[in-house]
Amino acid sequence: MKKRMYLEIDSISENENFARVTVAAFVSRLNPTLEEIADIKTAVSEAVTNAIVHGYDGKEGIVYITCEIEENEVHITIEDKGIGIENVDKAREPLYTTKPDDERSGMGFVFMEVFMDSLTVESKISEGTIIRMSKKIGE
Ligand code: ATP
Ligand code: MG
Repeated sequence: MKKRMYLEIDSISENENFARVTVAAFVSRLNPTLEEIADIKTAVSEAVTNAIVHGYDGKEGIVYITCEIEENEVHITIEDKGIGIENVDKAREPLYTTKPDDERSGMGFVFMEVFMDSLTVESKISEGTIIRMSKKIGE
């Protein structure tokens, strides 16, 4: 049977750690290794940070997080209803950032891709962005 968790948080930076710790706690029932948990925390953190920093650009908003466990696989979505991404392919390229002055290195999507088994990005200008990522635990 599927197990689900839904989380809605304000788009403030204090919530980045809360989101990653909450997802990690939910996933812990699969007995992941420390490395697997670290990978998931990093990916969640990058996606939530992007929603707050880019999607809502420091403005008020809600970040929607879902986490589903199906057998030994974790499916996570991170959604914002912010500004959206004009060119997703370009945004996913290493070192691409639209905020080079704010200590952004343009590596967030690369980390999500490396640390998870799959990553898809769905985005529409002025409507928002949905990040979907999955990872199998114990393989
Ligand atoms: P870093 O993650 O290394 O701090 P970054 O956030 O700029 O830097 P990525 O996470 O790879 O790098 O994202 C690349 C670019 O994609 C961002 O600079 C931004 O323009 C765009 N982007 C990413 N996520 C969103 C989002 N949720 N809403 C709007 N734009 C986004
Ligand atoms: Mg980023």
